[in-house]
Amino acid sequence: SSIPKIVILGAGYGGVLTSLRLQKELNYNEADVTLVNKHDYHYITTHLHMPAAGTDNPENARVNISKLIDEFKIDFVKSTVVQIRPQDRKVILEDGTLSYDYLIIGLGGESETFGIPGLGDYAMNIRSINSVRLIREHIEYQFARFKREPHRTDYLTFVIGGAGFTGIEFIGELADRVPELCKQFDVDPSLVKIINIEAAPTALPGFDPELVEYAMQVLQKKGVTFRIGTAIKECTPDGVIVGEGEEIRSQTVIWTGGVRGNRLIEEAGFETMRGRVKVDEFLRAPGHENVYILGDNSLVFNPEGRPYPPTAQMAMQQGVNCAHNLVASIRNQPLKTYAFSNKGTVASLGKGEAIGVAFGKKYKGRVAAWLKKAIDIRYLFIIGGIPLVLRKGKFF
Ligand code: FAD
Repeated sequence: SSIPKIVILGAGYGGVLTSLRLQKELNYNEADVTLVNKHDYHYITTHLHMPAAGTDNPENARVNISKLIDEFKIDFVKSTVVQIRPQDRKVILEDGTLSYDYLIIGLGGESETFGIPGLGDYAMNIRSINSVRLIREHIEYQFARFKREPHRTDYLTFVIGGAGFTGIEFIGELADRVPELCKQFDVDPSLVKIINIEAAPTALPGFDPELVEYAMQVLQKKGVTFRIGTAIKECTPDGVIVGEGEEIRSQTVIWTGGVRGNRLIEEAGFETMRGRVKVDEFLRAPGHENVYILGDNSLVFNPEGRPYPPTAQMAMQQGVNCAHNLVASIRNQPLKTYAFSNKGTVASLGKGEAIGVAFGKKYKGRVAAWLKKAIDIRYLFIIGGIPLVLRKGKFF
């Protein structure tokens, strides 16, 4: 048929927002839209630090895709993408093939290990529902193991690599969870160590220094040890090697120190930097007028020429802009350029504590924690309206 085929890969922040906008703006039979995702649910990445530490249930960080999209307007295919073939305008799935006229790639990022030996094999990552289930169970298991082998204090040492957003938010939750676990397993809390290792000269690089200072104080009071300006040289089955060869013994290493784009994109032949495509002003891959790249897979530069860090906030804005441009392309109307509009950033530090910058002001403590909640609830509202807010909002 002559109806254009739009295929959206990934139901993350970018893919979901593109789908929601398309189903709203497209007229009947104006395009065929297919959304492909590995799981039949969307996960709220910005909430994953809680179920990872065990301070919330993983169920509260996911939403069934059928509850978000209108399946009369968008075909949802639950499958894993194994190859993208731009030269043939095809996508190979584990169980089939899709052809497209327009392709939207929103497959999300992968962990970047910077070639540090062992990190890929022995460290865990906070990236998906399945990955946080594993971390949560693993942490509990270390407490149980310690009770059988009380000389093994390395079971109670938790190493978190990276003091970026994800690392800091996770540590805040873990520090809240440890006292509970100590009670549950009859473990002396003074034996538990949470060590955050960061190679950069500061935690939360790019964040307001006064707020960073506050965050570190809050976390130190909760028992966290920071090793800032210290690089992880190697990860082994017994822990990590840092700095000039010092070994920190630990059975739990969680790596949050880097994000790269999805490997399928470079394998498809797109030009990438650390797996991410420097998109044009309309969010398209250079040289591919019919391929849009969103979220953690895209590289967008600020007016000073430095890349913005990938965030959910940006992926959402890109999804809206991308949907607009798809509709405009189909209707032969002019495309809209994308410019990131920073609405602010808030990082949680555990229960009732956070830091943030929003509306040109700094926030810390309860007010910032409340702001974080408001941002999360606003997101639920954007994707699922009042019903989703009522079902999940109370957990955020
Ligand atoms: P994602 O949301 O990662 O979605 C990608 C989707 O693609 C997933 O559904 C995945 O299952 C699917 N997929 C992947 N591979 C395949 C495949 N081969 N086949 C089929 N489907 C596939 N950002 C903020 O703005 N604010 C925050 O407070 C914040 N906090 C964060 C906290 C944590 C713990 C983490 C990990 C990240 C946080 N971020 C935050 C960053 C934010 O989550 C990401 O930038 C955002 O999720 C990127 O969206 P995306 O659409 O590119 O991809």
